[in-house]
Amino acid sequence: MIDLHTHSKYSFDTEAEPAEITDMAQAAIRAGVNVLAVTDHYDLFREAPSIFCDVAAIQADIAAARPQFDGQVELLRGIELGQPQRNPALAEEVLSNFSFDVVIGSLHVMPNDVDLYDHDYDHIDCDALLRDYFAEMVRMEQHGGFDILAHLDYPLRVMKRPHTNPSFDNFMEHILPVLREAVNRGYAIECNAATLFSWMQRPGPDRWILEEYRRLGGERISLGSDAHRARDIGRGFDVYADYIRSLGFDHLTVFRNRQAQAYPI
Ligand SMILES: [Zn+2]
Ligand SMILES: [Zn+2]
Repeated sequence: MIDLHTHSKYSFDTEAEPAEITDMAQAAIRAGVNVLAVTDHYDLFREAPSIFCDVAAIQADIAAARPQFDGQVELLRGIELGQPQRNPALAEEVLSNFSFDVVIGSLHVMPNDVDLYDHDYDHIDCDALLRDYFAEMVRMEQHGGFDILAHLDYPLRVMKRPHTNPSFDNFMEHILPVLREAVNRGYAIECNAATLFSWMQRPGPDRWILEEYRRLGGERISLGSDAHRARDIGRGFDVYADYIRSLGFDHLTVFRNRQAQAYPI
């Protein structure tokens, strides 16, 4: 199996159980994962100070670990680049200073520099926010600089309140442009296993969204645990493999040196 979305001790939000790259490789082997991308957070903001990770240190650790795990798990140099369109100069800088196997594009922060995680959903118009979210996602796709469109359903994970069940069901017309851009520009759509372990307790993005992506000609699906501790690497992947196959996809997409390659699923 292939896990293209994981976080090491170099991400700001892994303090609870910070993992060395070697811990992650061992956890991957235990979980039956044989391709592992380390994709620490590099979140770019317009006004607020951006959140960086030490890419040079991460890549040095990966290079040092590779011989030790040769033949057991392949370690890929990744990064989770947050909203590159909001600070193109910083995005360009990191992408030109380092070589990556895979770059994940994420939209965590909007509007302004506020993370979707931090909004007061009891006191804002959630439908309007979701419409803006998809429009901003299209802008991010048009800007580019990444290979995988991460966790489309991130807002659903964090908008949940005791009296609401957020969903994308009435947002087809807003999601279609996101899917069209993904197909036209060759982005893989990520199935992020955190959805299964959230209040939603089911794989995501929703079936109808992935069916629509496929109908539009999309073929690239990537799988990531979004593990923020080593023991979550590869979690839920058997459920996701069944889910992805049931949608008619017969392969997962891996990126090496930012080139897409297909692996049968
Ligand atoms: Zn993310
Ligand atoms: Zn992540």
